[in-house]
Amino acid sequence: MATATMTQRILIIEDEPDITEVLKYNLEKNHYQVATAGTGEAGLAAAQQSLPDLVILDLMLPGIDGLEVCRKLREDPRTRDLFIIMLTAKGTEADVVVGLTLGADDYIVKPFSTTELMARIKAVLRRVETRESEAAEKDLQRCGPICIDLQKHVASLDDTPLELTLSEFKLLSFLIRKKGRVFTRDQLLDAVVGPDVFVTARNIDVHVAALRKKLGKVGGFIVTVRGVGYRFEES
Ligand code: CA
Repeated sequence: MATATMTQRILIIEDEPDITEVLKYNLEKNHYQVATAGTGEAGLAAAQQSLPDLVILDLMLPGIDGLEVCRKLREDPRTRDLFIIMLTAKGTEADVVVGLTLGADDYIVKPFSTTELMARIKAVLRRVETRESEAAEKDLQRCGPICIDLQKHVASLDDTPLELTLSEFKLLSFLIRKKGRVFTRDQLLDAVVGPDVFVTARNIDVHVAALRKKLGKVGGFIVTVRGVGYRFEES
């Protein structure tokens, strides 16, 4: 089964506007979707809300610093698996070690060359893709009483097959595979029907309503995130 690819999203947490601008410019040129935050607090909130594929995290930030942001991201089950590249100043090797211990995936020393940084970012994001396709290749996804057999294309509840439309099946398996992550209606549409099909984001609401009904007692696993979209959460 082909998996939908979405534009990868990168969050830059950096207080120096010049660096943020250069990064944003280069990343957008390479077709990544970029969000920025200028403080640790704002960055943390943005990461928790939008759950990007990759966080570029400056170590020296006003307020809570990069190490603290990294630690908090790793503590929160929603953001635990996000990829993090740290930006550090020369001569802060000790911080780098702490950062990597806290779970940063890679680091770049300032001043960095854009070419080098882009190469490192692409390398990390390839790991994101690999991890997601590995997850997708697992034939069976289970979540509480729900079981999805990707090979047979059957979803069941308490071992009774559910009668789902293709879109409902794709939506359910996508949400379960990315359990805990919040998705906007547009992202879900991309995942379910592909980016080239024109349907309005409200169609997702219709699919979700139908799916919840069919899931009965566990319909509440599909949680509405006010002002954002939906996430799947076993409760
Ligand atoms: Ca800084």
